[in-house]
Amino acid sequence: MTKTREEKLEYSRKYYREHRQAWIEYNRFYYGGHRQEIIERNKKYSREHLKEVAERHRKYRREHLKEAAGYSSIYLRGHRQDVIERRQKYRRKVLEKLGGKCVRCGFSDVRALQVDHVHGGGCMELMELGHGRSRFYKEVLADSEGRYQLLCANCNWIKRAENNEVKLAILKRREIHKGDIQQLTKFF
Ligand SMILES: [Zn+2]
Repeated sequence: MTKTREEKLEYSRKYYREHRQAWIEYNRFYYGGHRQEIIERNKKYSREHLKEVAERHRKYRREHLKEAAGYSSIYLRGHRQDVIERRQKYRRKVLEKLGGKCVRCGFSDVRALQVDHVHGGGCMELMELGHGRSRFYKEVLADSEGRYQLLCANCNWIKRAENNEVKLAILKRREIHKGDIQQLTKFF
């Protein structure tokens, strides 16, 4: 007699429960031997699935709004300097990769240089990626299709006005945060 799907599931659950400790030890052992490989695989996965990962995080945060807020403020308090340094490190690499000056006017004071999407929609993608600036920089570093360029703040605003991107970005922002706002009103 063949087992039904539910029976099979129950069997594996039971098996897992009975061998739980052995599994934990095995996994620990496996991780120990393949640490670097696993880290590389995870990094590759997040690079290739940037948007899904960001969407999943955002969904999780929405569903766990209170804990997530507490957690990230605790994390930030403890790792503030690390977060800032990591972001700066990526920013330096990005500026270097993209030539270190505004492609329109040649302005080169890094304090006012911004990463722009050659084909527009920059603000929008940044929001879709969540607020993880480091993650955005990583995406720029991984890009091999020339999708990004450097613009100074002035040229960036001018380009946005020319393409009407500002208005589009506001509309998009409203749409993205609608869910968050609905969640927030439950608490306050
Ligand atoms: Zn410029």
